[in-house]
Order: sequence, then structure tokens, then C-alpha cells
Amino acid sequence: ADLSALIDGLVRDVEDFPKAGVTFKDITPLLDDHAAFTQVVQALAAAGRDASGQVVVDKVVGMEARGFILAAPVALALGVGFVPVRKPGKLPWETRSVDYDLEYGQETLQMHTDALTEGDRVLVIDDVLATGGTAAATATLVQQGGGVLHGLAVLMELSFLPGRAAIGDLPLTVLHVV
Ligand code: 5GP
Repeated sequence: ADLSALIDGLVRDVEDFPKAGVTFKDITPLLDDHAAFTQVVQALAAAGRDASGQVVVDKVVGMEARGFILAAPVALALGVGFVPVRKPGKLPWETRSVDYDLEYGQETLQMHTDALTEGDRVLVIDDVLATGGTAAATATLVQQGGGVLHGLAVLMELSFLPGRAAIGDLPLTVLHVV
């Protein structure tokens, strides 16, 4: 079976989580499967290589919280550093912030001001691309931090939501489309 089918079989739909009317894609069965987790990390890491297999990024950025789980092993696979993007008040050093709109209300993401070096080529990794708000805010943080966006790679895209439009022309790698 191909990777998309493998992912499909290991992601569980949870109704009414985190609130009524939402069907949450639970990736924990996939993480619990060593062979599948390995394949997913390798496929995401491929987004940080060129056609000859050469690593073409300097940093991997992952978003709290499930993005961390995927981005850290991708960074190790590529032999580059990992940079966390977090909710407000979680990062201990000096931060830069970006606010973005949710369906109801606002959210903020932060990154350390010294996380990137000017010109760093950055691969952004998350588990799910939904409305794209998280990814777009992270892309802004990377650019404000002096990084050059190489692309966004996600395990899953929820294609009934406008995530793809929200990230504009940022190259997108998706392992499984729902
Ligand atoms: P967005 O900002 O694109 O609307 O939402 C994406 C963020 O919310 C990601 O960081 C992702 O972890 C989380 N998210 C939204 N919906 C789901 C879902 O159904 N399953 C999982 N695992 N994460 C989700």
C-alpha cells in the first residue's frame, strides 16, 4: 500500500473534539507504529532535499504541539537544527510574535528572535493543514526572523478548508489529503 493509504489507516476520526461539530484527526495511532512513523518522517524530510538527495535547508521549524513531534525527527534526518514555534508565554528567551485570526477570536504564535540566522533556508513542518492560519503565521515569523521559506510539509491536508489558499505561493508537500 502507498503512504497515503497507510496514513489513512492509522489516523482516527474523533467526533466532537475539541468541541461539538468538529471531527478531529487523531494521529496518535500512527505515531504508535514505528514503521509508519519512520516512513512519514522520511517522506516529510524529502521536502528538504533536492532531486539528487542533497539537503537544501538550514533549519526545520515546527509548531506546537503536534508539529514538534514530526519536525524534530525531520530535522535530525536532514542533519539540521530544529526551531520551535509556540503559543504565547511558553518560550523563555526574547521572542517575536505574530497574531492571526481564528474563526472566533485571535491567536498568537511566537519564535525566539535568535532562532534563525539571516538567510537560513527553512522547511516548516506541521501535522495538519486546516484553515492555514497556523502555517501562514509561522511563515510570517520565519520571514520576520530573516529566514527564507523553502516550503511547508504536512502529514495531512483537510481539503474542505482553505489552507492551500492561506499559504499563498509557499511550496506545499502533503502526504495525505482528506
Ligand atoms: P489551521 O491553523 O490550519 O486551521 O489549523 C492547523 C493547526 O491546528 C495545526 O497545528 C494542527 O495541529 C491543528 N489541527 C487542526 N485540526 C486538526 C485535526 O483535525 N487534527 C489534528 N491532529 N490537528 C489539527
